[in-house]
Amino acid sequence: MHLFTKIRQFLQSRFSKTSVTHTSEEIDVEEKQTELLEQVLLTALPPLSPEEEASLPDSTKPLIPIIWEKISKIGSKPLAIQALWDEEAFIWPTRETEAHLCLWVVYSHPTDYKADMVYSLGESQSAIIPLLGKYFAQKFDIPFYFPSPNEVDDDCPTWWEQDKGIHCEDCQKLFIPSDMSHRPKDICYPCHLRREIVQDIPSGDSFTISYGNESEFACVYYSYYPRDSNFGLDLLTFWEEYCMSQNILLSDELMLIQGLELEKLHYFMEKQKEELFILYQSTEIESNLENTSSKLDRSVTIHYKDQTYKLSPSSTGSIYPIKHRLEQLLYWRDITQFCIEEEKEIVIIIAKNLTCRDNAFFEFIHSQGGQITYLQLQEKFNKLLSKDEILKTLNKLVIRDYLLHSEKIELTLKGKHTGGYSFFQNCNFQ
Ligand SMILES: [Zn+2]
Repeated sequence: MHLFTKIRQFLQSRFSKTSVTHTSEEIDVEEKQTELLEQVLLTALPPLSPEEEASLPDSTKPLIPIIWEKISKIGSKPLAIQALWDEEAFIWPTRETEAHLCLWVVYSHPTDYKADMVYSLGESQSAIIPLLGKYFAQKFDIPFYFPSPNEVDDDCPTWWEQDKGIHCEDCQKLFIPSDMSHRPKDICYPCHLRREIVQDIPSGDSFTISYGNESEFACVYYSYYPRDSNFGLDLLTFWEEYCMSQNILLSDELMLIQGLELEKLHYFMEKQKEELFILYQSTEIESNLENTSSKLDRSVTIHYKDQTYKLSPSSTGSIYPIKHRLEQLLYWRDITQFCIEEEKEIVIIIAKNLTCRDNAFFEFIHSQGGQITYLQLQEKFNKLLSKDEILKTLNKLVIRDYLLHSEKIELTLKGKHTGGYSFFQNCNFQ
């Protein structure tokens, strides 16, 4: 009989419940039960066998009682131990410099499964996580689930969602395909990065809007997809409309909007805002007069600077595209106004035909503060790419003026504003 089952039986025999309703005495009993469970779990952990002792590195040993205590506090039998990568730790919100490997204890919940994270370590130190995982799985006689032991990948399903995953065509790993249009559905992300060099995989445009001056910029907008697929209303839309109205030729990659141009753009947006407010406030009055018998009020409201505006639909189309346009217009108009007052400039970068591999390079360089050595780049990607592939990607980004490569590899102005990581790091370059 397994250790945990023994403890459960022991506790049940000591504190068997007689009714369903909870009296204060029973609550006391429950508290004692939890307390005792913790105590028994902590003291019942047998010392490591000589083989286990030998197989575990010294760095693991102090961690075992810490993790054991966390597991004992869950207070129910674990169903599995899982190790999953968390790439978000790398990007958001902790702004770590690397992805983390997290150890989770899975247990049942009345309606579902639950998992508690009991330990995590950055990629470079993560080798002991599977040792700890195996150790606890053996102790509880439950499975140890680690779907991506060879590389960082956070698209793997949890232990209880394995049926939702598919096996990667290239490496057979279980993963959940991304719903992003530029990502393939049949192979995992690391395999996608590997394949890019040999196959003509469609790439996307990285699109960033930042404001600031000289060396310090804050990124306010980022997206990565082909622009014609699903572009929202952003500052570029209004900038394009303004340029068209003035017969200004739009540059296609790097746009710096500053000084007089910024003021003109602000005026252009301000006028549009006023026109929309006038149009839809007056429509509201007419619409209300027309629909006095109707109980259905189809108007929508917009809150802006302590005022509420009511927009009503015209007799034909829906009001929602107008509401969306107005909200975006107000948002970008305010940013433009702030930049004028603070003497900042706006930078719009469209990095065209950027592959996921290029993006992975940007993410890594951004995470290291914008500057790395060639050796660091190799160490980061040597599991995924050959030396040739690393050099080829690097050279391409240098030629396209995203990176400088002399003694060190550095981001150029264009590079600083490219890739999702620049957004999440808020672009605070020194
Ligand atoms: Zn794969």
